[in-house]
Formats: sequence, structure tokens, C-alpha cells
Amino acid sequence: MRTGPVELDFDALDELFAKAESVSVFCHINADGDAIGAMLAMELILKNHYKKNDVKLFSRDGVPEFMKFLPGAENIYDAKNAPVAADVDVALLVDCGTAKRIGREFSGHLEKAGKIAVVDHHVTDGGFGDLNLTDPDASSACEVVYRFAESIAAVIDPDTATYLYAGIMYDTGRFIHSNTTPEVFRICAELVAAGAKPGEIAENVFNNRALSHLKLLGYSLSNMEITGDGKIAYLLIPRTIYDELGATDEDNEGIVEQLGAYRECEVHTTITETADGRTRVSMRSTGRINVGSICAELGGGGHVFAAGARSDDPLEEVARRVLEKTRAALAALDGTVEK
Ligand code: 5GP
Ligand code: MN
Repeated sequence: MRTGPVELDFDALDELFAKAESVSVFCHINADGDAIGAMLAMELILKNHYKKNDVKLFSRDGVPEFMKFLPGAENIYDAKNAPVAADVDVALLVDCGTAKRIGREFSGHLEKAGKIAVVDHHVTDGGFGDLNLTDPDASSACEVVYRFAESIAAVIDPDTATYLYAGIMYDTGRFIHSNTTPEVFRICAELVAAGAKPGEIAENVFNNRALSHLKLLGYSLSNMEITGDGKIAYLLIPRTIYDELGATDEDNEGIVEQLGAYRECEVHTTITETADGRTRVSMRSTGRINVGSICAELGGGGHVFAAGARSDDPLEEVARRVLEKTRAALAALDGTVEK
């Protein structure tokens, strides 16, 4: 548990924005609630507080259906409709632990940026930007955006409050994950006072899923497997299952969390085949196992208790590696673990 928020150089970001004419904001591939919330909030801060007209938002995979209710979400470019890379004063990356996370399609944009700034909450070794505002103890990128807005005394209007509340709610798993700190409740209280509507936002984000997501969830709960003395819940989803159910990659969002309802499990993980033929790993830990380091060994990353990775290797091969590493991590704590 942290003792207080990490000191971030908000003044440097303030200076950078004040001087910039043009800013492009990027989030990670398969954008989630935090990524979209942070981008939209930054857009309003840039337009209203800094009076910038040339602000563009980029999300390789667009906006997930459950975040489309947010005003302004329709203006976010995806890989298909984005303008070609052009000179820009500042590229701001939100919710990205590495530059790669914005997606190959947008890497050219970074090359044309005068400065790269990062606003994030992933575990990183130093950061890859010219300016890194990264607090691994923050619940979400939206929390860091809020603290920045507070530091520059930006007006939090109802839309900005809604974006930030939605992102914090999303990344804390509706205020239940271990990143749900006193700071989270302090900030969310301010956001609700500023016009965010918790009931409406939760309804839009969580009870607004496609039928194909529910079908995939049904498949997932029926087909999850247990191993490692009951401490590991895992699930492989081959592409054929998505095809049979009419499901998309987006329908996979939120599935891994559901496996964690199993009483005994300490690690829950989904290993799925994505539409582009890659293997995607999502891992969650209930508090003892560092899944961030397991995913880092697999070439990915994330947080200590929520992490992911992608690989070009086949589903079964990646699953074997994930389970082997997870069993080894459990064995390191508890001694021998049954296969
Ligand atoms: P999820 O399982 O929801 O996709 O991701 C959980 C966490 O791990 C998120 O914070 C996400 O940013 C991070 N993460 C997921 N996939 C990758 C990946 O391929 N590479 C890295 N570096 N981080 C990832
Ligand atoms: Mn996040």
C-alpha cells in the first residue's frame, strides 16, 4: 500500500502543452475504459484549458461499444480512418506502458512528433517518452489525468468528470481491485460532485454488452479448467469458438475477471486466438503471485496483479508456457505444486 501519490512533473507537462500548437493523443491497442476515458479527458483539457484547436485522438482498434456512449468518442480515429502521419508538436501516449502498445500502424506518427509525453500507471523501467508522468501506484491513467487537471486548476466540467469517472471505475473493476485506494474515492467523490453520474455510467459500461459477449462468457465459464492444486483457473479460446458464436475480439474484454469468482483460485488467465492470428494472454492475480513479471517473461507486461502478453506462437504452446511459469511461481511460495 502506498503512503501517498508519487510526485510527477506536472509543471513540465503544463509547459509542454502551453507551447504546443498541435497535439496527437494515442492509447493502446484493444482500448479499454481507462484508455478511452483518459484520451477524451485530455482532449477537453487541451481544447478548453489550453485553447488548442489542433488536437487529434488515435485508438488503433477504435472505441469499444461499451464506451461509445461518451460524447466525443465518435471523433477518435482508428487504424482504418486515421490521417497519415504528419508533423505534430506533441504526441501524448495515455495508458501505454511501452511505445509499441499504440500499435504498429501508428508508429510513423511518433517519428514525426517533436516531443513524446507519457501519462500512465503501468510498471515501467524509467519510461520511453521525453516526459514521463507514470505512477505505477495510480489506479488508472485517468487518475493521473485527474491529478494533472487539479495541478493546473483546469475546470472539470460534467463531460470531463464522466470520462475520468468511467476510466477509474473500469480499471478498479468497479472499485474492488487492490488499486482501489483512498485517493480513488477522494477523486471519484470530486468527479461525482462535478457532474459524473455513477449509476448511469455503470449501466452504460457494464450492462451494455453484445449478446455475443454473453455467449462467449457462457462458453468460458463452462469450459474453464482448474490446475495447480486448484489455484489456477485457465481457459483457451480458439478462433473457431469466436466464429461459432459470432463473437469478436472485443467480446473477450471482461471475460478473464469472471474466472476469478472461483473460490480457490489465485491466478486466472485466458489464452485466446485474436482475429489477426496472434495469441493473446490475459492474467489476473488475487494478490500473492506477480503476474506482471510472468507476462514480462512472455514479452508482455502490465501491472503486478493484472497483466497481458501477445505472441505469434500457437495457442497451446503459449498456454503451456503460461501454466508452467504460473506453477513455478506458486511452487516458489508453497513448495511442490501438482501439475
Ligand atoms: P488485459 O488482460 O486486460 O488485456 O490487460 C491487463 C493489463 O496488462 C493492462 O494494464 C494492459 O495494458 C497490460 N497488457 C495487456 N496486454 C499487454 C501486452 O501485450 N503488452 C504489454 N506490455 N502490456 C499488456
Ligand atoms: Mn489503465
